[in-house]
Amino acid sequence: MLHNKVAIITGSTSGIGLGVATELARAGVHIVLNGFGDSAEIEQLRQSLINQFGVKVLYSPADMQQPKQIDEMIQTTLSQLGSVDIVVNNAGIQYVSPVETFPKDRWDAVIAINLSSAFHAIQAAIPHMYKKGWGRIINIASAHGLVASAQKSAYVAAKHGLIGLTKTVALEAAKTGVTCNAICPGWVLTPLVQKQIDALVEREGLTPEAAKSRLLLDKQPSGEFVTPQQIGETVVFLCSDAAQSIRGSSLSIDGGWTAQ
Ligand code: NAD
Repeated sequence: MLHNKVAIITGSTSGIGLGVATELARAGVHIVLNGFGDSAEIEQLRQSLINQFGVKVLYSPADMQQPKQIDEMIQTTLSQLGSVDIVVNNAGIQYVSPVETFPKDRWDAVIAINLSSAFHAIQAAIPHMYKKGWGRIINIASAHGLVASAQKSAYVAAKHGLIGLTKTVALEAAKTGVTCNAICPGWVLTPLVQKQIDALVEREGLTPEAAKSRLLLDKQPSGEFVTPQQIGETVVFLCSDAAQSIRGSSLSIDGGWTAQ
């Protein structure tokens, strides 16, 4: 059913975004990869998705802090792949600091990449989805879109904002074939979280294993990391006909984090 649809996944050169791109490609969806990284490695990722799943895969280097580049990414996708059916707003960064010393430029960057980029991508893509009468917008928020943690003011504000944006877009599109939902992962072991584990090792002299357990113990009752594949498979479900009436939801995939 998803065969030959076209999906843009922002921030898909790594972590969760790559897991989402892989599962969508497995379902027969043509893919636009986006994100930073070594160009040879990105080309290898692109080729590997093409070889494994026989879909078309483009790479867009658009910087999610730059609205003009986001628009260009949508336009290039339309001209090269003919459609934009699925947008997964996933690109994100983290910065950890008490609010009184939170660097202003880090605040601006977190809000731009984790929140405003989703607005710009939705604004550019949704008219094409309306025209086709079908579309899926999936925003990768976080458990931090529902509850807070100390020292993550910008991230928590951006993710709460992203859930608000999700609900608004879902309402505006409610009578169309376009749905908009958020996924709220708990801890997933990606480079974004590895940096926080490394910081814990340095600050408290823990072994890497002990730091991982501490992170999980603090928040995630399952005691296990969520995987990028689990999130990718949930995205595929949200793109299915079965999910046509799921609109404006925030789906927690967090090992029980926000059930507490
Ligand atoms: P990651 O660091 O592995 O990947 C982030 C991706 O975003 C990379 O591809 C990176 O190149 C890209 N990116 C960063 N800045 C960008 C920019 N300016 N323009 C374009 N691309 C940019 O991180 P991840 O853990 O996979 O995170 C992906 C999303 O999932 C983020 O929105 C994050 O907030 C969210 N999330 C992560 C976790 C977790 O535990 N890892 C939990 C909840 C939510």
